[in-house]
Formats: sequence, structure tokens, C-alpha cells
Amino acid sequence: MAAGRAAELGGSVTLAEKMSSTARKLRITGGGRCNVTNVAMLNDFILHFGASGKFIRHAIARFSSQDLISFFKKLGVPIVVEADGRAYPSRGSAETLARALEHWSRTQGVDVVTGFPARRLIERDGRIEGIAVQTYSARNSSAVQSAASSEHVIQADAVILATGGASYPATGSTGDGCTMAKRVGHRVVPLRPALVPLLARCKTLSQLQGLSLENVEVTLVEGDRRVAQERGELIFAHFGISGPAVLNISRYAVIGIERGSSVKAHIDFLPEQSDDQLTTLLLDQFNAHGNKMVRSVLSGFLPARLATALISTAGVDPDKKANQIMSRERRSIVRCCKEFVLEISGHRSFREAMVTSGGVDLSEVNPLTMESKLVRGLYFAGEVLDIDADTGGFNLQAAFSTGWLAGTSASTGSS
Ligand SMILES: Cc1cc2nc3c(=O)[nH]c(=O)nc-3n(C[C@H](O)[C@H](O)[C@H](O)COP(=O)(O)OP(=O)(O)OC[C@H]3O[C@@H](n4cnc5c(N)ncnc54)[C@H](O)[C@@H]3O)c2cc1C
Repeated sequence: MAAGRAAELGGSVTLAEKMSSTARKLRITGGGRCNVTNVAMLNDFILHFGASGKFIRHAIARFSSQDLISFFKKLGVPIVVEADGRAYPSRGSAETLARALEHWSRTQGVDVVTGFPARRLIERDGRIEGIAVQTYSARNSSAVQSAASSEHVIQADAVILATGGASYPATGSTGDGCTMAKRVGHRVVPLRPALVPLLARCKTLSQLQGLSLENVEVTLVEGDRRVAQERGELIFAHFGISGPAVLNISRYAVIGIERGSSVKAHIDFLPEQSDDQLTTLLLDQFNAHGNKMVRSVLSGFLPARLATALISTAGVDPDKKANQIMSRERRSIVRCCKEFVLEISGHRSFREAMVTSGGVDLSEVNPLTMESKLVRGLYFAGEVLDIDADTGGFNLQAAFSTGWLAGTSASTGSS
């Protein structure tokens, strides 16, 4: 987006890509469907970015989700809006969208050179002069000047670093941009996996493995402090928990674990019912089906496997007849349904994290242009910056909006 936009405005643009092809991560987004944006209104939209919402506001306002949807529509990729404002290509997939973007940038005149990892920024007296790329084989590009060594220099009046974060390194994003930015004096907020599945310790985990539950409320507790809460889908895996509700609060778990704190997830499997309502419901059901096993009764409103696990955790025999359940046991079952506690023992690695938190410190970047405040002519776009958001299309929109803004600024020289 950044390269195409700069070329569209008349810039002579070279895109140096480290991998043998571009947009690898884009192609696997949204499980191959690509949740390309979210149509939430600006004020709501930026709330999904936490502390970095203020920084991203201008970029989103300049190139909004509606602008992105119109952009792809013009490229022949209509977008449809689904639940919670999540938007996807209506036909085809992430692949269709990636191809359209690549085709568009090439038709704007972008010279795309693949297999060229950028190694360092070339800067003199606080002004960018180009980048040095490493080459493994000779490529045909007028912009790449051959040199005796395997390092080649691309001279430029402006450089946009859009190298992503450090998650899913197999797609090419390995944190290189942060290393390069550091070398020219930028502060980098430490990189951590975000939107990442969590490891959990719990006796019943093997029983729950594979269960996917809609509308569950997860509260994350660090020490004795509630640090985050999210409602949505939760998936039990062999190692712990995942799913959008878990991913969205995972960044707080990662920080808590790093601090050495005790981190626990308190799960409310029936958040629509208060404790009192659930107690009354159970009482009614146990009376109405007194001869049934308690697990069969609970299976009326919870998946059978979960019902059995919760009753066991409550210290009750799941095969006990409903009319033999004592009020103490009923209270214990209600507690387990409303506050099932899992000890979080860790998180999956960058290899499985959808985004990276941390990156180039936002206080050193102009939010109106994406230009570095330290090096003139150096711009940033996307996840290389210290921005990360919830699931729902916010991260890609942020990458596209900052890319569009950086491309505009780099081409027009605005700062
Ligand atoms: C599995 C998965 C699913 C996702 N699904 C969604 C979704 O549905 N919706 C959503 O909003 N977000 C989603 N995301 C997040 C989203 O993909 C990212 O936030 C977004 O791709 C970031 O864009 P970017 O351009 O900043 O970085 P990337 O997409 O990571 O692109 C960086 C590029 O820079 C290249 N590069 C890196 N280092 C160098 C170097 N030294 N020299 C040259 N090139 C280099 C890389 O090879 C890569 O091509 C998902 C992420 C993952 C991993």
C-alpha cells in the first residue's frame, strides 16, 4: 500500500522484499478469508488499539475503512461486512485481495524486487540517503547497483520501513525493521507476542480439549487485580486456551507472566445469567428432572463434556441423581459455571502470535505523516510501529492506513 500510494503520486519507487514473494502474511489472514477491516466508527475503532489509539487516529481518519473498501472495490474485489463490523472480500479470499494489491502497485510503476533483505538504513546528518540490501543472486532492477560485496545500495530521498513485527516469522516478519530503526537512534519498545494462545494448567483440560464455546466471558487476573475482560469465543486446546476472547486479552497475560506474577483466567460460561438466576434455573431443572443424572440436566444448557467437567470440578459426582443434590453442591456447581479458574502458565511463541506488541516508539514518529522525528525522509508503516489491536480487522486497517499515509507523505515530501 505504501509503495503503491507513493508511486501513484508520482514517486519513483522500489519495493525491496526479503522473501521470494510479497504479502505472504496477508495471504494467510483470517484463516485465508482475510478480515481486511472493521467498519466501527472512528472513536470506537481506535479504542481497540489501547494506548496507541491516539497515535493511529489521524491515519485512520485520513484513510478509513470505507476508503479501504472503496479502494478494493475499484480493484475488482468487493468487500462485505459481517458480524461485529468485520469486513471480508465477498468473493474469493485473502489470495484474491493480495493479488489485486500486488497488481495495483505494479501498475502504479513500483519496481518490486524480491529476495532482497534490507540490512541497514543509510543516513547522514539526520537525513535518509537510502538502504543497503543483501543480495544472494543477481536480479534485474535498475535501482539495485552492483557492488563487489553482496551488499547493494538503493539510494533514495525517502525510505518507508514496513517490515512488520516478529510474529509468524515464516512469512518474513522477523523484527528486522526494529533493528534497523534502533541503529539510527530510534527507541524500540520490546517486542512481545500478542493475540497469542495461552498455556493453562488444569486437571480437566484433557476432557475439554477441542471444545469451542461462543459467548463466554474471560477475566484475566494478575495477582489479585483484574487486568482485562473479554466476551466472545473461547477454544480449549491440548495446551490451554485460544479463540478471539482469549487472544484479545493475551497481551496482558504475556506482560504478567514476564513480570513473574500469578496470572489466572476466570471463565464465566454463562455470562447472560447472574449467580441468582443460575441458582434458580438449576433448582427448577433439578426439581423437574429429579431422576436424571445431574450431568444430563446440565447438558441442557452447556455442552455435555463441559457439563461433566464442571460438575467434577465442583466436587460432585456427575452421575448423581438431580434430586439428591444438596444445596451446598448446587452452589458449588453454580460457582464453577460462573467462575472456572485456570492458572495461566505461559503463552505460545511468536510463531503462533497473530501480531506483535512493541516496536518503534511512537513518541519518535509524527502521527500526521508517519515520518521519523529523528531522521528526515524516514517513514514507518504497519506493525513495525508499537501498535497492535484486537482481532476483528483492526490490525490490517492500521497497516493499510499507516501505509497509505506514509506513501503520501514520502512522495509529497510532507513532514
Ligand atoms: C495467521 C494470521 C492471521 C491474521 N489475520 C488477520 C485478519 O484477519 N485481520 C487483521 O486485521 N489482521 C490479521 N493478522 C495481522 C496482520 O496480518 C498484520 O497486522 C499485518 O500483516 C501487518 O502488516 P505489515 O505490512 O506491517 O507487516 P507484514 O504483513 O508482516 O509484512 C512485512 C513484510 O516485510 C518483509 N520484510 C521483513 N523484513 C524485511 C527486510 N529486512 N527486508 C525486506 N523485507 C522485509 C516481510 O517479508 C513481509 O513481506 C493476522 C496475522 C496472522 C499471523
